[in-house]
Amino acid sequence: MHITMKRRDFLKSATAVGITATIGSSLAESATPQSRIQQGFKPVVIASSNGMKATAKAMEMIQQGVDALDAVVSGVNIVEDDPNDNSVGYGGLPNEDGVVELDASVMHGPTGRGGAVASLRNIKNPSRVAKLVLERTDHVLLVGEGALRFARAHGFKEEDLLTEESRKAWLKWKENLSKEDDWLPANDIDSIDIGEGIKSAIRNTGTINCNALDLKGNISGVTTTSGLAWKIPGRVGDSPILGAGLYVDNEVGAAGSTGRGEANLLSCSSVMIVEYMRQGKSPEQACLQACERIARQTKMKRLKDANGRPNFNVNFYAINKRGEYGAASIWSGSKYTVNTGEKESRYAEFAYLYKRERG
Ligand code: ASP
Repeated sequence: MHITMKRRDFLKSATAVGITATIGSSLAESATPQSRIQQGFKPVVIASSNGMKATAKAMEMIQQGVDALDAVVSGVNIVEDDPNDNSVGYGGLPNEDGVVELDASVMHGPTGRGGAVASLRNIKNPSRVAKLVLERTDHVLLVGEGALRFARAHGFKEEDLLTEESRKAWLKWKENLSKEDDWLPANDIDSIDIGEGIKSAIRNTGTINCNALDLKGNISGVTTTSGLAWKIPGRVGDSPILGAGLYVDNEVGAAGSTGRGEANLLSCSSVMIVEYMRQGKSPEQACLQACERIARQTKMKRLKDANGRPNFNVNFYAINKRGEYGAASIWSGSKYTVNTGEKESRYAEFAYLYKRERG
């Protein structure tokens, strides 16, 4: 069934800063990196709302001539190392057994390579391990014990990633079990009174996605996360899945995501966003189109509100080969971060499908 969205429901942020000019369909034939620099071409870095420091760091490195992939990975390492960000790396909220499991992916536009790790324990910088998968294996994705052994072989230090704060949050959840876990009884498309925790679906998620265009006109991206809090051990979200949580095509642009990974895994939105941009959509329009697609593809009643809209959020971030950028989310209310060459990064407004009512 195709749900047609009414024009008035299709709200867009009036203050969205994404550049909305249509790119045209000639991105693949756009100018060489050198001629773009001569044309006054400017690099860009964007990230999710927790990326103020990451985008500033990545831009600082890019200004020094560093490759976009090295820059974005160094940027997100700041967030992975931060015990106060409980959605990424060290201090991330754990799975239902109280163990932190991390997911990350990277893509390098100029060489067309990708690397990822999933369900990685005890290593606080999964993005660096993902980058090594790209550089030092003939594989793309390593998971669990194999990913840990690979990290160990490359000299990564193992440590307990659970901070006191995250352990206490996990214990509180554990002590209130049954309303907020991911185990579902038998259910069908009409079931609504099950899985209370995922019904509200805005449950302790968070991630950083960071994409950049460097001085050579090359594009790379990274997504890193501790995933959904209290997940079933072994659960893998969208972040380490190329095409879902991250996608880069050096001829077109990059896209990445945060939010309900399950919805994005079922829509592979990052690769779709890149394809929408290839067809001529601006980064913001392409992200919004991915949100619409998820709204249309959400069929289960337990995942919809009384008006048939998704009761969860997914956010997308995109840049194109011209240095234009934009982001969109299903629901309003959040911001993303951007840096176009300044010392300090700034917040920017998402375009969105639905306006969240206050209260
Ligand atoms: N997308 C992440 C995941 O599903 C979580 C998030 O970004 O909130 O693992």
